[in-house]
Amino acid sequence: MIDFINVSKTYPNGTHALYGITLSIDKGEFVFIVGASGAGKSTFLKLIMHEETPTSGKIVINDTDVTKLRRSKVPYMRRHMGIVFQDFKLLIDRNVYANLEFVLRATGWKNKKAIRERIETVLDKVGMSEKQYQMPHQLSGGEQQRIVLARALLNAPPIILADEPTGNIDPETSYRLVELLREICDTGKTIVIATHQYDLIEKYPGR
Ligand code: ADP
Repeated sequence: MIDFINVSKTYPNGTHALYGITLSIDKGEFVFIVGASGAGKSTFLKLIMHEETPTSGKIVINDTDVTKLRRSKVPYMRRHMGIVFQDFKLLIDRNVYANLEFVLRATGWKNKKAIRERIETVLDKVGMSEKQYQMPHQLSGGEQQRIVLARALLNAPPIILADEPTGNIDPETSYRLVELLREICDTGKTIVIATHQYDLIEKYPGR
């Protein structure tokens, strides 16, 4: 499903972020990318989502060589990925429901009833049905992360990429979030989580 063949990434300023990475991630795998800050975890995820392109090597996702992908095809490819990143925050000027509706409309959903049903389904999945009319600032950090996860699930992507999803939340809430990702994985999704929190890996064994 995700294949890296001898992939290296050097940033324009000369930083070698990744060197000679070869690996395969299969459909339905639960994978942690671990390492200290600066190890290259975010770069790895950004290469998968085509936010960055490799300096050399080949990246194949679902049998498509994404290194050869035209710029215009990137948004289409992204629709197959749910993204939980620190810099993809909720829009602060609208409530939870409107945040989710915004994403659906931006990805072509038009039918009001279908939109409502989809939003209810993803909020139910993350246990946040009660909070749909709250504004982001009225939610705790952990609740916001659950909404970010709900947002990532909207278009039922086969792959979920999470970069330090538990970065700003307390240990107990972190565990619950990873448990949720684990449950989502059990429905056949591929989950890739970058983290420097080794306790998460001990508690939720994955690859
Ligand atoms: P991690 O997610 O493990 O903290 P990153 O992938 O963010 O690691 O960074 C890996 C290395 O690449 C670091 O040395 C970082 O400073 C560098 N780096 C990351 N992004 C850029 C960028 N846009 N330009 C230059 N260097 C970068």
